[in-house]
Amino acid sequence: MKPAPFAYVRPGSLDEVLGCLADGEGKVIAGGQSLVPVLAMRLGRPATLVDINSVSALSELRLADGMLRVGATVRQRTLEHSAEITSVPMLAMALPFVGHRELRSRGTVCGSLAHADPAAELPAVACCLGARLRIAGPGGHREVAAAEFFAGAMTTAVGPDEVLVAAEFPVAEAGTGFGFAELARRHGDFALAGVAASVTVEPDGTPRDARLTAFGVSDRPVSRDVTALLTTEGGDWRDLRPALEVLAEEIVDTEGDAHGSTGYRRRLLAVLAARELSSARRRAAAGKASS
Ligand SMILES: Cc1cc2nc3c(=O)[nH]c(=O)nc-3n(C[C@H](O)[C@H](O)[C@H](O)COP(=O)(O)OP(=O)(O)OC[C@H]3O[C@@H](n4cnc5c(N)ncnc54)[C@H](O)[C@@H]3O)c2cc1C
Repeated sequence: MKPAPFAYVRPGSLDEVLGCLADGEGKVIAGGQSLVPVLAMRLGRPATLVDINSVSALSELRLADGMLRVGATVRQRTLEHSAEITSVPMLAMALPFVGHRELRSRGTVCGSLAHADPAAELPAVACCLGARLRIAGPGGHREVAAAEFFAGAMTTAVGPDEVLVAAEFPVAEAGTGFGFAELARRHGDFALAGVAASVTVEPDGTPRDARLTAFGVSDRPVSRDVTALLTTEGGDWRDLRPALEVLAEEIVDTEGDAHGSTGYRRRLLAVLAARELSSARRRAAAGKASS
């Protein structure tokens, strides 16, 4: 199919972008990797595509005040190969799972967050790490925590007359370790289920904070504080599995489909979560932020 007719504009400043979106009939285009298929299938019919790629203020990628700031036009692959990514190891773990290299060369980090596919990796990373999303609109700028940003499948806190300007990810601290894993039928496919895990330990190795975010199993990323599940002894990942099976029962609410039943996704989530929490804890205790 071909897209329905639309106008195309490429403003040079954020104010002009907001002017183009003011009537609520326009749609931002960043990398186009999700939006163009949506248009081609006529699942969306915006009157105007507002291309943000000429707004130089949206291309910043920098560390400041303990956060990694990723502007709206920063490509996934640019971040993947940046020096700054070592400050946020979970992003380095997750990005290779986002589609294919060619898609990541065009697709933006913020575009993935704004698109809010329930099975996408970067929304889960944002939720697990407690990222902050900066939004600009007619009323000025506002900041939304990742936990409040994702409102449902393909739905976020960004209004039709607003732009996601940047995402800010907290820099990893010493004593925190991370885990990330998913299962997809082929590499590059959206995940059947996936997990992001973060564990912070005391100097003696006792877990102080453990957070788990599941994706691909509900209409948005689902996060839980799982500190209480980690016993003070090291333990084998299999020891965590029974408690995580109970949690998966509660979290997974997607209908089964041709790729896997609800029960299969629950079992998958419990295994992935147990392994990644265990790995994250081990990395935290070893004083490493990642593997
Ligand atoms: C074959 C294929 C496989 C894929 N596999 C995966 C995968 O495994 N995991 C995964 O996460 N993604 C996957 N994707 C999606 C890909 O990662 C996209 O790049 C990403 O979801 C959207 O980024 P984009 O910059 O291309 O956004 P666009 O396509 O330009 O926009 C997507 C949506 O977000 C909105 N938007 C974009 N930027 C902003 C902004 N700054 N402010 C407000 N709204 C904005 C647009 O209006 C649109 O609604 C896949 C895509 C394809 C085609």
